[in-house]
Amino acid sequence: MTRPALDLPWTHVGDLYVDGAWRPAHGTGRLPVVDPATGETWGSVPDASREDVDDAVAAAVAAFRSGPWPRTSPSERAEVLLRMADELEKRAEQLSWTNTRENGSPIAETSGAAANAAGILRHVASLAPWLEAEDVRPFPAGGAETVVRRDPVGPCVLIAPWNFPINLMVIKLAPALLAGCTVVMKPAESTPLSIRFVVEAAAAAGVPAGVVNLVTGGGAVGEALVRHPDTAKVAFTGSTPVGRRIGAACGELLKPVTLELGGKSSAIVLEDADLDAMAAVLVRSSMRNTGQTCYISTRILAPASRYDEVVEMVTATIAAGKQGDPFDPDTVFGPLATRSQRDVVVGFLEGAAAEGARVTVGGAAVDGPGFFVQPTVLADVTPSMTVAREEVFGPVISVLRYDTVEDAIALANDTSFGLGGLVFSASPERALEVAERMDTGSVGINFFASNHAAPFGGRHDSGLGVEYGVEGLSAYLSFKSIHRKV
Ligand code: NAD
Repeated sequence: MTRPALDLPWTHVGDLYVDGAWRPAHGTGRLPVVDPATGETWGSVPDASREDVDDAVAAAVAAFRSGPWPRTSPSERAEVLLRMADELEKRAEQLSWTNTRENGSPIAETSGAAANAAGILRHVASLAPWLEAEDVRPFPAGGAETVVRRDPVGPCVLIAPWNFPINLMVIKLAPALLAGCTVVMKPAESTPLSIRFVVEAAAAAGVPAGVVNLVTGGGAVGEALVRHPDTAKVAFTGSTPVGRRIGAACGELLKPVTLELGGKSSAIVLEDADLDAMAAVLVRSSMRNTGQTCYISTRILAPASRYDEVVEMVTATIAAGKQGDPFDPDTVFGPLATRSQRDVVVGFLEGAAAEGARVTVGGAAVDGPGFFVQPTVLADVTPSMTVAREEVFGPVISVLRYDTVEDAIALANDTSFGLGGLVFSASPERALEVAERMDTGSVGINFFASNHAAPFGGRHDSGLGVEYGVEGLSAYLSFKSIHRKV
């Protein structure tokens, strides 16, 4: 396999970033960084200790209480975010290589990561006028008015998973920074390196010391940050069980929390759907990033009248996607990000076969080094099968059959999750009608993408609160009303 030469000295010295400088961790514990395409360990980072966590939080608290950042205007902070976007784009290639090497996302996916993150930073910067607009509201009875202030909430804990390590951190970091907060970031243990380019970009853009801090480690480090008495808000993306645990801790501590969790989304194919058009967006909407994307619609609900045709199209489209070296620009499907995720997905495939699902393509792990599972399409899946109910987080699509549109909507809503969804139809009116009845945070009509300007979040077991847009920015604000006589 081709591996670009990476000039990343810190992959082995692997310091933490605290109070504006890279510094060694207090302890000696280290976590390996594994290339999932080969199974080889190629770097390591510190497994931060309690002392490291305390140092990072202390830096964020000091920068919040007495540093310049929260006292600058939103417009001034927006200028820094714009510079940071440029700095990130300068590092696009190394960031992409590092990301691909730590989680196996195809290079075609990660080569857009810096530009996407820069787009988020630029969009969030454009919200500065909203943040600083004077907001004075008269008392309805007259005689007095209220000045509504949008204060930064305080030092924030930002915790991300491994599937999109840049995007899912920057969507937290950008609004936190614009709001005037300081942060401690904790990336997932398997993807602790690509995020360092974001730290470098922040420093190069002039973000003051202590505003952005980075610690690495596993769940215990995340938990220590969440429970730390001096952190003021938690923004988390990850699995539903961990989200519940963090939500419970934040409830106990009365700490505001945003939770972006798992999903099990459905694509409802209406009878009039154009299957060629659906094929063109299928990988992105149902198997993006080798199926390791939270919102993808991995349950395809096909009308009985066109069931065989839909199964045939989905099978042919997935079979045509090249699987292999994630550094090959033509690769559509890479490995799973970790050995344990590969084992989880294989377990789902074995369970589906035992429950009577029919494999039309794929169906097994790939022999050899690396954590590859064949992109798989399962037909004859029924709503009660485990693979139809639980999040697989791997390259597995299930095709279910429905009789009436009412049945399809009921089936789509019969899940504990509520994150994404899709409707495929030639009729915009019919599609909108169905989309409106899906009990989920986002629905796409004939395509799916997230819009930096619109809220993105999950209902039910898929989370609490939203990211993106002014709604996402509001999660980093603490509102204050100052009443005065007029
Ligand atoms: P995970 O929950 O295992 O870990 C996520 C992060 O939480 C990691 O950084 C981990 O170290 C940390 N963590 C683990 N235990 C913790 C604890 N007790 N306290 C604090 N932090 C802790 O998730 P994962 O396996 O890395 O990611 C996959 C999951 O993320 C999937 O369920 C996927 O659907 C979800 N996800 C959701 C979205 C969304 O926007 N809704 C986006 C991407 C991924």
